[in-house]
Amino acid sequence: MAKILVLEDSPPLQSFLKTLLQASGYQVSICDKGLDGFAYLSEQSFDLVLLDLGLLDMDGQDWLIEYRQWSTLPVLVLSARDGEVEKVTALDNGANDYITKPFSANELLARIRVLLRTQGHPSIAFTCGNIKIDPQKHLVTVAAVEVKLTKKEYAILLMLFQNKDKVLTHNAILSHVWGEQYINRPEYVRVHVAQLRQKLESNPANPKHILTEPAVGYRLLD
Ligand code: CA
Repeated sequence: MAKILVLEDSPPLQSFLKTLLQASGYQVSICDKGLDGFAYLSEQSFDLVLLDLGLLDMDGQDWLIEYRQWSTLPVLVLSARDGEVEKVTALDNGANDYITKPFSANELLARIRVLLRTQGHPSIAFTCGNIKIDPQKHLVTVAAVEVKLTKKEYAILLMLFQNKDKVLTHNAILSHVWGEQYINRPEYVRVHVAQLRQKLESNPANPKHILTEPAVGYRLLD
């Protein structure tokens, strides 16, 4: 049974979506704040997120940008705003699809089925030596044992995996994981990479996979 997280702050829509999705055989969790959504997603595994662009505590576009730093789970955006710019921005920010309120129940269910079919599985995992990362499940293992990473550590590791064998500069990592305003602060990356090595490398002082390119950045090698 697929699990859907609904981020929506309007009580009538919350109950409409809950009833509709449960009646269609999905497991549903609902929250009205973006930060609660992050907490749910880091603690449980979901198959899809329905995201309202106007949440209680943050703008849905900002939520999407932050979420895409550590997850590739399908996100279907729900919004009352029907401007082309909003749609394009949401897609650029990493939404997989977009539906404008008011929408019909059948249309919503059809979009969800398409996303679950094309994106939800099979999950694609990357491996490097005995380190494995599964972006759909937001799961990292070393020799098949789960390792808990912070959001920033996870985002750096995912970026390294997506660019295996290539050098990533300090500033490329900073702008992707922290944001443009943090470039030229390589010490942030250094601290997090040291933590990643502690958690993932069998000898963190002499890493075999997360290698330093002196004065430049890092490279992930098998
Ligand atoms: Ca709203």
